[in-house]
Amino acid sequence: GTTLVEVKGLKVHFPIKGGLFNRTIAQVKAVDGVDLTIRRGETLGLVGESGCGKSTTGRAILQLIKPTAGSVKLNGVELTKLPPAELRKKRAEMQMIFQDPFGSLDPRFTVGQIIAEPLENFKRGNAREIREQVAHLLEVVGLNPYYVNRFPHEFSGGQRQRIGIARALALRPSFIVADEPVSALDVSIQAQVVNLLQDLQAEFGLTYLFVAHNLSVVKHISDRVAVMYLGRIVELAASEKLYELPLHPYTQALLSAIPVPDPEVEARRKRIILEGDVPSPVNPPPGCNFHPRCWKAQQICREVTPPLEEKERDHYVACHFPG
Ligand code: SF4
Ligand code: MG
Repeated sequence: GTTLVEVKGLKVHFPIKGGLFNRTIAQVKAVDGVDLTIRRGETLGLVGESGCGKSTTGRAILQLIKPTAGSVKLNGVELTKLPPAELRKKRAEMQMIFQDPFGSLDPRFTVGQIIAEPLENFKRGNAREIREQVAHLLEVVGLNPYYVNRFPHEFSGGQRQRIGIARALALRPSFIVADEPVSALDVSIQAQVVNLLQDLQAEFGLTYLFVAHNLSVVKHISDRVAVMYLGRIVELAASEKLYELPLHPYTQALLSAIPVPDPEVEARRKRIILEGDVPSPVNPPPGCNFHPRCWKAQQICREVTPPLEEKERDHYVACHFPG
């Protein structure tokens, strides 16, 4: 497919201030040089342990956080340099679904008001037309339009996430960042919400960046998967390829932690146990920042950062010794 979103050299560094003069004493390198292309109509899974920078990457792509460096293009338009009024217009095309369906809906407003807000801000019709659009959006996400005057606390977690999705869809975006959209929900309703997202993708031609901390969550929904570690993408490939033949040691370790249903296969499998925790993004390790935890690390890994390179067709990996 053609490219919808193109990210190059994306960095988000947060200064830490301190000392006598409250000067910047360190940088949190939350996102430290991310390159990604997201193809029109695909779901790109973005996976990594908490604190690896995946949510920050999603927000920085949407310009909800200002990147420290790098380029983000949506439909060929450079977003990082847009004047505020132009960026505001672009917001209609790109939306976010949040992890927490409780915190992301304002409890003082009715569901109707919550979904109508973006339509009113962007003047998408008169009062009657907006009411009709809200009713339609509720139907589209599988909620009874009769609920329009209820408040968020009157709904279950899954229903609240549907309300958040309706709101994200209101302006007919082409690109949606879904930041762990089912992580806060009961396991029993996670599949329903994932299925809804897939149905909506087909119906409205949506492109998703689907952020998750667990490789098994994104396996079925993603066309391609990017694995993130400490602010960088370490591997990116078509979903089947990544799960069958991961090339980066970190991806291999993550996958080895997912149990296999077949007990015989499970018994023969080798678990890779990673030593230690993800290091702090303040002063991350030099070279390959995974080297303190990598069982394959050599001297070059401590000194030279491996670039994300295409090792096989459409299979990118950032490692000096892949495979
Ligand atoms: Fe391990 Fe070296 Fe590859 Fe980094 S570059 S993942 S340390 S083998
Ligand atoms: Mg997060």
